[in-house]
Amino acid sequence: MNDLFEYFEKEFDNIIKKTEKIDKSSIKENIYISKENNIDIIFKYFKENQNLEKLKILTGFIKKFFIFMKKISGKYPKYKEIYIVENRKINNLDFSGINKGGNWIIIENFDNLDYWTFFHEMIHIYNFHSMAGFIVEGFADFLSYLFLTTNNFSTSSKHKRLIKKHFRRLKTKDFPLYDSLKKDYNKTVDKGYKNAQAYSKSFLFWKMIYEEFGIDPIKDAFRMSIKNKKMNAVNVKNILKKYTDQPISYMSGWILTGDYYHLPKLNF
Ligand SMILES: [Zn+2]
Repeated sequence: MNDLFEYFEKEFDNIIKKTEKIDKSSIKENIYISKENNIDIIFKYFKENQNLEKLKILTGFIKKFFIFMKKISGKYPKYKEIYIVENRKINNLDFSGINKGGNWIIIENFDNLDYWTFFHEMIHIYNFHSMAGFIVEGFADFLSYLFLTTNNFSTSSKHKRLIKKHFRRLKTKDFPLYDSLKKDYNKTVDKGYKNAQAYSKSFLFWKMIYEEFGIDPIKDAFRMSIKNKKMNAVNVKNILKKYTDQPISYMSGWILTGDYYHLPKLNF
């Protein structure tokens, strides 16, 4: 458990309560994937005249997303209903999306949807309970990015700006990944950078692994993260052993402290 996680747990309950009062309307769209797999997407939106055409387009993206994720994770979501709820008040969290361990995804604004963040939250339908932050959040950021770029959907500028900003900072100061092996992590990491910095670095870590070894270690690690709720850096190291005899050289500076040696290419 980390403090950010606990913070969201608390905030989420408040948001749900507020959302129940403010949503004006809702619409249900069914996604038919196969005979065995049908998922209802329930959009709850704030505006009375929501652009339904737009929601239909989003439903199409979501269907593509589930098919993409079947290839990565080996499964479809366990939920038969997924709620996507608009809440204009969410930006006081400085986040535009949030998911609490399952089938409620809260977004800031349907009209100006940040797709990278949106699909980040959709990844949490699969992996929310994984405990190591660089695995759970790194995968949410990276797989969302991979889904969008693989399908030639644009990655949102808001999220892109965030990654770039943190990447510039990574050049001047090194940080261990979020929830790293270091026990004294909270004491040693500059508080101001802690959470957001580590999200970006976690994203870059998985992007680096993908660029070096392709999709297979990504699949291996993501599938393990769904099954093993306590997955940590040692498990990642063991997975990388299948692909390189020097896993630590890829993880050093990312998982462990010290200078980091491997920077991924950034093609934004
Ligand atoms: Zn997340």
